[in-house]
Amino acid sequence: MDKEKRPIMSQEDGPNLAKKGWSLTKSLMRYAMSGFPNVEEELFERRMLICNGCESLNKKSAKCGVCGCVVEYKGRMETESCPKKKW
Ligand code: SF4
Repeated sequence: MDKEKRPIMSQEDGPNLAKKGWSLTKSLMRYAMSGFPNVEEELFERRMLICNGCESLNKKSAKCGVCGCVVEYKGRMETESCPKKKW
C-alpha cells in the first residue's frame, strides 16, 4: 500500500499487532488452564456497563483501546480483568 494512503493509527486503535497477539495468547492460556470459567450473567452485564461508559472503548470495533480485546468476550471470562482496574 502506498505510504501516504495508509490509515493513520490513533491511540484509540489500541496496542500494536504483536502486543495484541501476546496479550490474547496469555489470556487464553490463563482461561484454558483454569478450565474455561465464565462469570455469572449479572456480573457480565455490570462489566459491559462499565466498558460502555469507558473513554477507552472503541465503539466501532467494540474493542478495548488499552488491551485490544473484544470486551464482550473478555467480560465473560472469569480470569480476565480490566487493564485500567475498572472491573
Ligand atoms: S476493559 Fe477497562 S479499559 Fe477496556 S474498555 Fe473496558 S473498562 Fe475500559
